[in-house]
Order: sequence, then structure tokens, then C-alpha cells
Amino acid sequence: MIVGAGPAGCTLAGLLAQRGILCLVFDDDKRPDLLVGESLIPGVVPVFRQLGIEDRVAKMSMLKPGASFFVTDGGPRIHFSFKNVEGHLPTYSYNVPRPEFDNLLRTRAEELGARFVHAHAGLEGGIRNGEPMIQLDAAAREAAGLKPGDMPLLVDCSGRARAFARTMNLDSERGERDDIAYFAHFEDFEHDEVDPGQVIISVLRAGWSWRIPLPGRLSVGIVVSKEHARTLGATAEERLENAIRQEPLLAAKAARARRITPVMTYSNYQLLTRCGHGPGWVLCGDAFGFVDPMLSPGLFMSLVGAQQLDRCVFRHGLEILGQPEKLERALNLYSDIVTDWHRAWQELVRYFYDGRIFRIHLAGKNLAMKPSPFNLASRMERHSTRHIASMASGGWTRSRYSRSLMRLLSRYLVWDVPPAENFAVRGLRKEPVSAAA
Ligand SMILES: Cc1cc2nc3c(=O)[nH]c(=O)nc-3n(C[C@H](O)[C@H](O)[C@H](O)COP(=O)(O)OP(=O)(O)OC[C@H]3O[C@@H](n4cnc5c(N)ncnc54)[C@H](O)[C@@H]3O)c2cc1C
Repeated sequence: MIVGAGPAGCTLAGLLAQRGILCLVFDDDKRPDLLVGESLIPGVVPVFRQLGIEDRVAKMSMLKPGASFFVTDGGPRIHFSFKNVEGHLPTYSYNVPRPEFDNLLRTRAEELGARFVHAHAGLEGGIRNGEPMIQLDAAAREAAGLKPGDMPLLVDCSGRARAFARTMNLDSERGERDDIAYFAHFEDFEHDEVDPGQVIISVLRAGWSWRIPLPGRLSVGIVVSKEHARTLGATAEERLENAIRQEPLLAAKAARARRITPVMTYSNYQLLTRCGHGPGWVLCGDAFGFVDPMLSPGLFMSLVGAQQLDRCVFRHGLEILGQPEKLERALNLYSDIVTDWHRAWQELVRYFYDGRIFRIHLAGKNLAMKPSPFNLASRMERHSTRHIASMASGGWTRSRYSRSLMRLLSRYLVWDVPPAENFAVRGLRKEPVSAAA
């Protein structure tokens, strides 16, 4: 039984149905017209292929060739192309209109045989044999058609509602940032500095922003500290508009822009539930944890998390549900993998927040220009770029070698470049940033 029909829940339902395992998904039918999570990374494309939906995703989306990272006030610019991941991942991804994309995943799960219950899943928590336990309440059991004594495995895919964690009061760890995001869709917001479809992430004078091209519109979001947000105005609309107006990188491009949606607000991200499963229950997608959105890993974690749960637990078929020790081992493996993913993303995103990524980039450019025997310097630069791009694409994010390489680059290969603080995301910059040493 899956609680929540977002991307994690529908992907899991579709994958299980492909194995011939019937599951029931509780869908509370709450689908706002506007949702964050529009920019995807190449690591999700293999899941689309497994579900047999890539052509339908492509039709509704904009092809994403890569992502660019800018620093305000003439700071450095990095253009990552997904061509760098050739050989181990697709060399592109998509920017998706979220409500349509979510509907597609749901439709596909249904086509494959998953069943949906249009109801909010009410839950009851407690302690069994000293461990937190959870079950559906009477109304939800009735809606699902459960008989007395039926004890399905419950999967929490309720997203940031974190239905199981809240009901059982599960412990969680928060990341170091606790920012707030405001976003909306715009028409006529210029997006001419990069290839069509390329996403732009900018380190602003205060906080950072995203610009995600979608068919016929641009999704623009700003992420700032809660303290700075209060100085931008009283309402979400004022805050987004003022942030754009005050930031040279955005203001110039927004001169003719027209907002065509309401402004949405998101807060509290960077969170990981310490315990991902227990007797009869398991967490998946945002319900397990949410990663900071700067590198767009959210949907990847939801889709690949569902894929991991399917592989670790259900490749043995449904019999595993009657074999407690084997089930425990499979769930442990799944939880360890997802937890490791979260830690790896957190580690990677820190390089972008604290500015080290821009130092590595500038040092790499210097290195590539230096004459060296057998072109070693520029080969080294290409090698590093491939690893960084592959980590940000969901390919080598957890790779020990790539992570060590990043550490090595940021510590020892950064001569003649300005300090990382110059490019770090912070509250409000007083001094203009310079890329010069
Ligand atoms: C500011 C910001 C920007 C982001 N940008 C990106 C991005 O560019 N790219 C990206 O990949 N990710 C991004 N994300 C993350 C992404 O949006 C999420 O990771 C993703 O939506 C999680 O999917 P999910 O299926 O786990 O949860 P959700 O999408 O939240 O789905 C959960 C579903 O469960 C339902 N539900 C909850 N409780 C119950 C219940 N008791 N009974 C029945 N149904 C229930 C909910 O209504 C919802 O439909 C961003 C996040 C933030 C905060």
C-alpha cells in the first residue's frame, strides 16, 4: 500500500506493476496548478525508459542540455554540458511542466495495472515490541477494502507532508540551511545568454536564483534567508518582484517580463529522517528526506529511490513479505543506499554554496591554458569537468573516486584564484564580486 500519488508513489506503483505485483495507491487528489521540481537531471532518464514513457515526457517538456552557474556583479560563469557524461548516462535531461508530468506518471502506473484509491490515508501510530509502528485508520482500511487481519507493507510517499514520520514522531536531521523560496512563471523574461533549455543558477547579491525554461514560459525562483525575505516586502508577490528588481543579473532580463501565475512559497528544506523503515513500513521520496534544490536532485531521489526500493525488496517477489529476516535485510540495504545518496548530494551542494566550485573552475581554466608535456594540464581539466558534471547528473554522485577528486581539487589545485567566500551564497553582499585574482 502506497500513501501518496506524487512522482515517488506513482513510479514505485508502475515498477511493481511491471513485476506483476499489485499495489494500491492512496491519492488525496491534491494537485496544485504550480509545483516546484521542474528541472531534471540525466539520471532520471533511465527510469523514464524503464517505465516506457520517455517519448511522452519529451513531448510535454523542454530538452535540457545542461546547467550554467553565474555569480553576480561580473563574477565567474560556469557552463556545464551534459555531453560530459557521455558513455554512462544520457547526455541530456528535461525541464518538465510539473502537474502534467505528475499526471503522466500516474496514468502510466494505471496503464501498467496499479490501482488508486481516491482518499486521504488516515494513519495511527504506536509502539510494537519497542519499535515505532504505523497502520491505516479504520476509514482508510475500509476505503482500501482491507479485511480484518490484513497487514500490508505500507510505503510512505507522502512527500513533504512526511505522514509516517509525523505520526510516529521519527527523528530527523536538518541540513545547515533553512532558507525560503519564492517562485512563479513568467512570459517574456529574456533567456538569451545560454542555449535554449539550459538552466541558469545564479549566486545573487543575497541568496540565489533559478531560471528554468519551460515550453512558452520561464520558471523563476529566488531562495533567500528568512531574515532577508522580510526586508523584501510583506507578501510573497512583493518579495519575488523586489528580489528580481534589486538583482542586476535578473533585473536586466526581466525588463519586459510578465508574471502569469501566482507566486508560490516553499520553506524548510534539507532534511533527512534518521530511520527509513520499521516493522511493516518504509519511507520513499521526499517522505524519507529532501535534498537542497540547488542542483535539482529532488525528482531524481524520488524516482531512483522508488527504483531502489523495487530492486532491493521486490525483486524477490511478494513472498519476501512473509520472510521477516530477509525483508529486514532488504529494507536495511535500501535505507543505507538512500541515506548515502542524501549525504553525497549534501556534500556536493556544499561546494556550490560555499563558492569552492567557482575556485575549482577558475583554477581549471588557468591550468588548461598552461603549456604542459602531452597536454597533461588540459587533459586533467577535462577529466575533472567530466567528474563534476557526472556527479551533478546523478551518475557518479556517490562515487568514492569522484568525491576524493573534488576534495583534492578544492584543496590543492587552486592557485592564483580568489578565495571561495567571494563566490559563496550569503545573506547580502556588501562588496561586488570579482573573478580576477
Ligand atoms: C524550492 C524547491 C525547488 C525544487 N526544485 C526542484 C527541481 O528543479 N528539480 C527537482 O527534481 N526537484 C526539485 N525540488 C524537489 C521536488 O519538488 C520533490 O523532491 C518532489 O516533488 C518529491 O516527490 P514525492 O513524490 O516524494 O512527493 P510529492 O511530489 O510531494 O508527492 C506527495 C503526494 O502525496 C500526497 N499525500 C500526502 N499525504 C497523503 C495522505 N495521507 N494520503 C494520500 N495522499 C497524501 C500529496 O498530496 C502529494 O500528491 C524542489 C523543491 C523545492 C522545495
